[in-house]
Amino acid sequence: MAKRYQNFIAGKWVDAKSGETFEDRNPANWEEVIGIFPKSGKEDVDEAVAAARRAFPKWKAIPVPERGEILKRAGDLLVARKEEIARLMTREMGKILAETRGDVQEGIDTAYYAFGEGRRFFGHTVPSELPNKFNMTMRMPIGVAGIITPWNFPMAIPSWKIFPALLCGNTLVFKPASDTPATANALVEILLEAGVMPEAINLVHGSGASVGMAIVRHPDVDLISFTGSSAVGKVINAEAGKDLKRVSLELGGKNAQIVMDDADLELALEGVLWGAFGTTGQRCTATSRLILHEKIHDQFVEMLVDRASKIRIGNGLDENVQMGPVINQAQREIIHQYVRIGQEEGAKLVLGGHPYEEGECKKGWFYAPTIFVDVKPSMRIAQEEIFGPVLSVIKVSSLEEAIAVLNGTRYGLSSSIYTQDVNAAYRAIRDIEAGITYINGPTIGAECHMPFGGVKETGNGHREGGWTVYDFFSEIKTVYVDFSGRLQRAQIDNR
Ligand code: NAD
Repeated sequence: MAKRYQNFIAGKWVDAKSGETFEDRNPANWEEVIGIFPKSGKEDVDEAVAAARRAFPKWKAIPVPERGEILKRAGDLLVARKEEIARLMTREMGKILAETRGDVQEGIDTAYYAFGEGRRFFGHTVPSELPNKFNMTMRMPIGVAGIITPWNFPMAIPSWKIFPALLCGNTLVFKPASDTPATANALVEILLEAGVMPEAINLVHGSGASVGMAIVRHPDVDLISFTGSSAVGKVINAEAGKDLKRVSLELGGKNAQIVMDDADLELALEGVLWGAFGTTGQRCTATSRLILHEKIHDQFVEMLVDRASKIRIGNGLDENVQMGPVINQAQREIIHQYVRIGQEEGAKLVLGGHPYEEGECKKGWFYAPTIFVDVKPSMRIAQEEIFGPVLSVIKVSSLEEAIAVLNGTRYGLSSSIYTQDVNAAYRAIRDIEAGITYINGPTIGAECHMPFGGVKETGNGHREGGWTVYDFFSEIKTVYVDFSGRLQRAQIDNR
């Protein structure tokens, strides 16, 4: 019997008001039901927001270092449950154990960073232009945060948002992706055990259209932190804009790795294999374009196809497996559709291009590692996010052309260049239009204490991670203290 899960609203574990449910299935074996979850709607969101609003004055009154200590305990509990949660996550969304352990570790690192930030949380002190006057800034919490997350990093992405949101003194309503609700449940259990005030965190399961949209439209939600596709991000931004809500959007990517003719080809090969086929290509930072200098093109493609054809595919719980399934049937169909589009556009398929159905994989949503060559930069497979193990190889003849091709999409999240020429590396750092640039490393592999986010249609200018995310989850107050005992008029009395 599959486990039945509930929402956590107003300090209690409860079913959806409708009484309806949905199933969470293992993408590596669709016969395995991980759990049954409440299919919630607007009424559930209304209760969750009201609870978060009630908790806000109490939660924000707790000293920031004390809130940090609660998050430290959450980090400790994640350490204790790391292996159990990693296994659950692999069953729930398919990526291999090494990666799901990394996903939980990112949550741990983010919790400990928040703990440290609790004793910093700096404002500025700034001299006044007038005598006997003192100026400073301080950070204030904002209110109720709506947290809406995707399925590809079920622990890391919610942690990136929830830990800083709570540290800053906000309360929240959390809607995880309906493909990964069990990992989200574990995170909320941990936060409660660590000592977060029960009404300060509310978990509402369900679809984006009903639960997600109800959060975005709710007049008592002050800010929205969303990670997902650019298409949904645009809808959310437009809706939330009607109430002037603060919105942070972390959206899609069409990331490229450049390999120059002087690169260490073995190193560049390891990079692209990890970048393109890690997480079965389902990362916002995945390498989905490979830009090769013409002098090494043929040799590199041969090395790449050889290695990619040997990737071991299967259930991510098997430690020998290197690539798991894609998330669900609909996503596999989208990937397959893009393969057809690529062929129709005239790109040459040199590997894969079909569902993978060997042995046990018959019962899962597996797709073979797929490589196209002779890809033109304007083709749809070189422009649109596919979110699967599909790599498009583009040939160029110079650094300038490589950078122009890399920049020629509507996205700008991650980027990479392999070269041993320091001048080429610095030109790339300067000229690439992306939020993240790696030199001699793949497009994936962010560290949680560094800012994370992208330009163009990858986002709306905010950054998660590191110190920058605290700017999003707090409001700056500017304070003037005049101890002169008389009216002092800035710009007038001192001029
Ligand atoms: P998605 O946009 O379909 O869904 C993301 C979340 O939004 C889910 O919880 C979903 O239920 C919810 N949602 C859907 N429609 C909604 C609506 N109308 N109103 C409110 N909420 C709604 O994305 P996904 O398929 O879960 O994730 C894949 C996408 O996420 C890719 O585009 C990927 O690039 C992107 N992503 C970006 C980052 C980043 O940091 N930039 C990180 C991971 C994933």
